[in-house]
Amino acid sequence: MKAAAFDYARPGTLQEALSALREHDGRAKLMAGGQSLGPMLNLRLARPPVVIDISGLPELRTVTRQGGMLRVGAAVTHAEIEDGVYELLRGTPLQQVAPGIAYRAIRNRGTLGGSLAHADPAADWVLTVVGLGAALEIAGPDGVRMLPAEGYMQGAYTTGLRDDELIAAVHIPVPGPQARWGYYKFCRKTGEFAEASCAAWFDPATGTARVAVGALDGAPKLLPQLAARIAQQGLAALDETLLAKELAGVMQDKDEHHRKLHGTAVARCLAQALG
Ligand SMILES: Cc1cc2nc3c(=O)[nH]c(=O)nc-3n(C[C@H](O)[C@H](O)[C@H](O)COP(=O)(O)OP(=O)(O)OC[C@H]3O[C@@H](n4cnc5c(N)ncnc54)[C@H](O)[C@@H]3O)c2cc1C
Repeated sequence: MKAAAFDYARPGTLQEALSALREHDGRAKLMAGGQSLGPMLNLRLARPPVVIDISGLPELRTVTRQGGMLRVGAAVTHAEIEDGVYELLRGTPLQQVAPGIAYRAIRNRGTLGGSLAHADPAADWVLTVVGLGAALEIAGPDGVRMLPAEGYMQGAYTTGLRDDELIAAVHIPVPGPQARWGYYKFCRKTGEFAEASCAAWFDPATGTARVAVGALDGAPKLLPQLAARIAQQGLAALDETLLAKELAGVMQDKDEHHRKLHGTAVARCLAQALG
């Protein structure tokens, strides 16, 4: 199928993009990389009167350091992160995750903000931002608001974004000297969405210990008790019973096979981070 006819707008600034969104009263669609929106248009699951292309907005294409956080523009692509185009992102957890997303052709166009806005439960950035305790910078008609990553996604393909808002950037912590990161996803073929996934982030400099699981029915979930115990006692304290109990609490609707898959993803992720 082909997309229904739509108008195309390419604003030059963030303010112009926000004005265009407001003008169309919730009926316009933003487009960043077009890797998820394109298929939705072609299948006519989305039929917006106008598509607003934000992929070139300068405000969404920079990476800067702000105190203990890195501000990563929402229109930075997966491939740019993978290739270390932005010096500040070299060696960060984002650079480790990016090469495992989809295929190179998709990574060339797909963006951090587009993936977060689409909010596929099995997507890599959706889990990464929760694992890192990142915050989303949301721009709207009244200015900018910050939203913690774990409160942003409300369910599968459902977020806290309003119709007149867009994701301008993601703020991730600058790793301390002893920070450790792990990321593991099960997928049938390289470059596919995860069937089970886990992200773990330990930074003694800030007292941070986070373990999050993804590819659930909705938003990623944290395993706080397990994270605290591992941070205090090390990898040897990975307790099968505690892991099974915490997973059961966040996976009520999943069968035994999926719980096992997630349990293994958590164990491998922690071994990667701390082994
Ligand atoms: C074959 C295939 C395999 C894939 N495999 C994976 C995978 O393994 N892991 C993974 O994580 N992803 C995967 N993806 C998804 C891919 O990462 C997409 O890039 C991503 O989902 C969408 O990013 P985009 O920039 O192309 O967004 P677009 O397609 O342009 O937009 C997606 C949605 O987000 C909205 N939007 C875009 N940018 C913003 C913004 N800044 N603020 C607010 N709303 C915005 C759009 O209006 C639209 O509703 C795959 C996609 C395909 C087609």
